[in-house]
Amino acid sequence: NWDLILYVNLELVNKTSNRRFVVKEMLGQGTFGQVVKCWDTETNKYVAVKVIKNQPAFYQQAIMEVSLLRTLNQKFDPDDKHNIVRMLDYLSFQNHLCIAFEMLGQNLNHLRGLKVQFVQAFSKQILDAMIVMRDGGIIHCDLKPENILLAPTAKTAAAVKVIDFGSACLEGKTVYSYIQSRYYRSPEVLLGYPYTTAIDMWSFGCIVAELFIGLPLFPGASEYDVLKRMLKILGGQPPDDLLREAKNTTKFFKHVGSSYLGIGPHDGPGTAYRMLSEDEVEGRETKRPKLGKWYFPQQRLDQLIYTYPWDNTKLPETEKADRVLLVDFLRGLLEFDPNKRWSPF
Ligand code: ADP
Ligand code: MG
Repeated sequence: NWDLILYVNLELVNKTSNRRFVVKEMLGQGTFGQVVKCWDTETNKYVAVKVIKNQPAFYQQAIMEVSLLRTLNQKFDPDDKHNIVRMLDYLSFQNHLCIAFEMLGQNLNHLRGLKVQFVQAFSKQILDAMIVMRDGGIIHCDLKPENILLAPTAKTAAAVKVIDFGSACLEGKTVYSYIQSRYYRSPEVLLGYPYTTAIDMWSFGCIVAELFIGLPLFPGASEYDVLKRMLKILGGQPPDDLLREAKNTTKFFKHVGSSYLGIGPHDGPGTAYRMLSEDEVEGRETKRPKLGKWYFPQQRLDQLIYTYPWDNTKLPETEKADRVLLVDFLRGLLEFDPNKRWSPF
């Protein structure tokens, strides 16, 4: 019942030629094509139309996006209660697949350094969407602040919705290994290990931290740099089982037997791998891994959350307590072992 065959709605194509959608302005541009703000002359509303490049690979992937989003919208969230963007229509126009979405607002890159209570409110909404995705066995594969947009709401409280299922896939039918945006890429994807919906929970952890501290948590200039930051900020490292089986382990780690040689205080005896030094990577890959600037004065997660970006010495007790809870939450999400990582429910 996963109907991947695009059903071209002839009626819609006719409407297009009568200019149903009048293009107003550009909203975004990417490798896939562009997103334009249009006036829908039929419903008298603004819509966001994603116009996919007219090349077969992009077309195929967009059909996947349509298929997964249609399932999420209609089957798992018929009443639009779970913070997932609504797909309004789709059509094929001169080999461009065009997908019309409800018009949403700015992305979360515009909101940074939020108080814990707002981080909590947005987190709940994103998690709500992730429960639905998990029910559908759908991995988003590209969760990041840019793909979470503010949504208009009748209440005064702000609401967000998850967008961009352009990289999404079905759990158990994963095709690509090079997925997720680098800063939000999970350890198992970096290391080349079979992945599940747990990779979205990792990205979600990165987003939650970023909403609070106002900067990406692992802004690595290379995959090596991202992994190195993870080990430093979180302590510990991926479990030996994962490292033993992952395809890319030797790009980042050296097998050192069962002796203790890890770099984080959480590493214990039995750790059979240690991360390569930059020089060792140089030796293997002929070129030095790009390293970005370290801008956090505190490198451990708990210290980061307790002190950044505000000095916590004068914080009210309630806010200190909130931050303790935030660290606990982040620890559950940013767990190296995908089997131990918290799931959305
Ligand atoms: P990509 O695969 O290139 O990331 P997206 O679906 O994320 O494609 O769309 C690209 C950008 O277009 C988004 O980051 C956002 O700025 C804008 N956009 C996408 N969908 C909407 C929408 N429903 N409402 C408003 N803006 C949108
Ligand atoms: Mg996007």
